[in-house]
Amino acid sequence: MRSKIVAGNWKMNNDAKETKNLVKGIRKAIKRFPLANTRVLVAPAFVNLRSANKKAKKSNIEVVAQNMHQENSGAFTGEISADMLQSIGIKTVIIGHSERRSIFGETDELLAQKVNQAIEKEMEVIFCFGEQLEDRKTDNHFTIVQYQLEKGLFHLEAIAWNQIVLAYEPVWAIGTGETASPEQAQEMHAFIRKLVQEKYNTSVADNTSILYGGSVKPSNANKIFSKEDVDGGLIGGASLNIEDFTEIIKAI
Ligand code: PEP
Repeated sequence: MRSKIVAGNWKMNNDAKETKNLVKGIRKAIKRFPLANTRVLVAPAFVNLRSANKKAKKSNIEVVAQNMHQENSGAFTGEISADMLQSIGIKTVIIGHSERRSIFGETDELLAQKVNQAIEKEMEVIFCFGEQLEDRKTDNHFTIVQYQLEKGLFHLEAIAWNQIVLAYEPVWAIGTGETASPEQAQEMHAFIRKLVQEKYNTSVADNTSILYGGSVKPSNANKIFSKEDVDGGLIGGASLNIEDFTEIIKAI
């Protein structure tokens, strides 16, 4: 059975103290309600991973990385490897966030290499993808999403999908306040699950969690999460606020 997941992407926000306080606050808040089959993930900046992980110890919070390099070591100034992440207890990594694609020029080919490295190192991958506004306006959103999945993930063996979580994030909804409607999210998630089923099999498709990301807030989380193929969310802005993030977790 696939898990429900609420993951907070903290991006380049929060210093050391703020990160610890945020983990502490979320930890305290989610203690008050049951989390049946639901995982709560947070992705602080690299420098804060270790302390966040310490603060999250023996709680329901899993600390994950926002990115990693495709090689394991070497002359790659400023980069972080899978081994480094694992050496501080990080088991999950976000790959392919739209900001990595658009601001840092990460291509589908590069992302496939990162995915391969993470799989080989036995890490879990939250693989992000989604169309631009122009793609949706021109009715190309399904084609783009299919292309991103084919390039980034469909070379994997079925067995590797135990380590894959999908995060559909329409770029026009990220940090814009504009959200895909619950119907738009469901339509795309059902399409994605069908693609996985056709490429692999029903079991892989049924067991893969597909998260929605793009301006999820306490006010819209319930409706989005109620859709059959939406298994949770990747949350940016709202995950920086203890109350908002907690409300979103409650919604699931
Ligand atoms: C994100 O960055 O993955 C995201 C979904 O951001 P926001 O929730 O702020 O739109």
